[in-house]
Amino acid sequence: MIINNTHQNQIIYSNIPQPIRDDGTGATDPGPRDILRDIENPDMLVPPATDAGLLPNMKFSFSDANMILKDGGWSREVTVRELPVATTLAGVKMRLTPGGVSEAHWHQQAEWSIMLLGSARITAVDQEGRNFIADIGPGDLWYFPPGIPHSIQGLEKGCEFLLVFDDGNFSDMNTLSLSDWFAHTPKDVLSANFGVPQSAFDRIPKGQVYIYQGTLPGPLENQKIQDPYGSVPQSFKHRLLTQTPISTSGGRVRIVDSTNFPVSKTIAAALIEIYPGAIRELHWHPNNDEWQYYISGQARMGIFAGNGTARTFDFRAGDVGYVPFATGHYIQNTGNQSLWYLEMFKSDRFADVSLNQWLALTPPLQIIEENLHVGPALVDALRKEKWPVVEYPGFSYYPKGQYYSTCINNPGSQYGI
Ligand code: MN
Ligand code: MN
Repeated sequence: MIINNTHQNQIIYSNIPQPIRDDGTGATDPGPRDILRDIENPDMLVPPATDAGLLPNMKFSFSDANMILKDGGWSREVTVRELPVATTLAGVKMRLTPGGVSEAHWHQQAEWSIMLLGSARITAVDQEGRNFIADIGPGDLWYFPPGIPHSIQGLEKGCEFLLVFDDGNFSDMNTLSLSDWFAHTPKDVLSANFGVPQSAFDRIPKGQVYIYQGTLPGPLENQKIQDPYGSVPQSFKHRLLTQTPISTSGGRVRIVDSTNFPVSKTIAAALIEIYPGAIRELHWHPNNDEWQYYISGQARMGIFAGNGTARTFDFRAGDVGYVPFATGHYIQNTGNQSLWYLEMFKSDRFADVSLNQWLALTPPLQIIEENLHVGPALVDALRKEKWPVVEYPGFSYYPKGQYYSTCINNPGSQYGI
């Protein structure tokens, strides 16, 4: 039908990207193809000529993950099952309605979270019987050490948050939950344990509840339970956006790890903002793999993995990216608004090595000139201070990305649909 519609085809094909490089390498793809996907992945369809070799997939979108719908909210997760290269960390996106509850549970992994929209109330009790209760707003973090039982409830406007676990094999559907344990414990045992008649358990759920619609809680002060053992010694909450960012010509960076959020002993993070036209500089991490979550805007990341291999991926809000340990990479803002994303590590510390700083501090500088056949123009520009995100006048991916921005922001308009 569409193939015979000449006029419609002219409209369609005049605007769709083809796998042809500027120098003419490649050929059109008139066959069956997912054009929306190709528009979203311009560097996959037409890789930079510097890409080479077959590196594994380093991208997975939450939009391609299983969705678990419940009364009271939803969740979906990106684990090693979805993205096999991502062995160190796993991520779960969760939405809770006003009053919606992620039921009381615990797990073998540590849980790090950032609130993206709305607010929630979180509770926990540690092994010494010390409790914790706090309200979490946009940009706030929490961290629950492994084995610490906790719960999350959406407040007035509900909430949406990202959970990150320090094991790529983690699954949120495989946690130890209150309802699941009750359902799988004989009622005479429950009766003996709590000193109440078995009839008290007549109506307990038959299996794991996971998320349910609860009653919107009142003010925090009214909910606090007097704890004879006091509250937890290290707060499980951290207000990331109150940190003064590292601010450079290209953006802002907020680093959070066990040095400023002491309880977060196994997960370190950096919240990166890259202005339009700017780039997260060429760098690598000397401690562990990097797990990324893209919050807003659009980007491309180039990964250099040694032995002449390199691959480029495109990202948008809701995507997960991954960078294997110590491999070189950059992230470029390809849109016309600020790009926000998280760099996450299974580590007690954030650490990165800057290519620019490394070269600037490597004596004698002649070895760089002789090695790379570059002149003083580069050597004189090297910078001893680390600038994680940079922008120079005249060097910008935008508006090269404008075509794609237009398509992405208004995909239907490209096909007359
Ligand atoms: Mn949890
Ligand atoms: Mn990085």
